[in-house]
Amino acid sequence: MAFIEISKENYQHNIEYLAEKAGGKDKLMVVLKDNAYGHDLEIMAKLACGFGIKKSAVKTLKEAKKINFLFEEVLILADHPTRKLQTDSISYAVHSLEGLRKFPKKSCVHVNVDSGMHRNGISEDELKDAFIVILKNGLNLKGIFTHFRSADQLSSEQYWQNENFNKIKKQAKKLILKYNLPMPKFHSCNSSSLLRREEPLEDDFARCGISTYGYTHIHESFGEFDLKPVMSLWAQKLSTRNLNRGERVGYGGVYELLKNDMVSTYDIGYGDGFFRHDGQNELILEGKNVCGRVSMDSMCFLGDAKKVCLFKDAYYLAKKFNTITYDIIVKLSPYIKKVVV
Ligand SMILES: *Cc1c(COP(=O)(O)O)cnc(C)c1O
Repeated sequence: MAFIEISKENYQHNIEYLAEKAGGKDKLMVVLKDNAYGHDLEIMAKLACGFGIKKSAVKTLKEAKKINFLFEEVLILADHPTRKLQTDSISYAVHSLEGLRKFPKKSCVHVNVDSGMHRNGISEDELKDAFIVILKNGLNLKGIFTHFRSADQLSSEQYWQNENFNKIKKQAKKLILKYNLPMPKFHSCNSSSLLRREEPLEDDFARCGISTYGYTHIHESFGEFDLKPVMSLWAQKLSTRNLNRGERVGYGGVYELLKNDMVSTYDIGYGDGFFRHDGQNELILEGKNVCGRVSMDSMCFLGDAKKVCLFKDAYYLAKKFNTITYDIIVKLSPYIKKVVV
């Protein structure tokens, strides 16, 4: 069976590193959405809790319910409630004024404000109306947040969006005082925006996903960051054969042996969420040559090793296939066994 090794030590290292950057563990929300970016929601939630993290974010209510006992607060980023939850430790992100109106009375909400990404969030002009809805429906306003679109790029956009958020913050604070509401938490940074910051974090906390798992795609001019990949992916041998020079391996026979050699088949494929390499170009993973196309449930390598490592650092594959590490790790099937080491 293919398996994923989770390095507890590396995860702790990243969390400590990011917490220091954010100004303490209380200022770090770990993002565990999408099965903790493929690492396993429950395993990572328990580890994060053990390291002293008190806040996490997920995508759905189903995910939140699995881990909410471990945290003071779990923020649901993309789901719609049908009724008020029994607990105040789960909050919902609200992405539009229209959505806010539909929230069950007394729900805990974090209002997303659009500071320039134009993907989600209420606009500055709608802020007043949002507060009217909050008051009318007795919503528990726990947070006001935004998301940056260019945090990993070298441009002035980050400053522009940050300024926009500061303006919205000011306006929101005025309204909060006016309506005598408890002060909500303000948050904006994801991994890249926290990492690139030179000044201490002004917000109440940062929401970090990819960096906790050991990666960043931030422009290199921002420097080097001491992050360690948490996941490594392994597959086990199904069979071995001796083939002659000129024989061809796998679908389409795209891989031709240049000399007599041993070829083995391993139990991982694109059905398990591994990247479907088409065999056209050479691919060497952790020192071993991939032979031909990746099949749905298996793939071939030169040699006869009992197990092979597909990656210890997903950056290599991401770069090779012109994508980002998120894309490589998050798609791995939740059914792949996890081993915490
Ligand atoms: C996914 C997500 C994050 C985490 O982003 P990373 O780049 O992985 O740190 C933060 N905030 C929101 C709203 C998200 O959807």
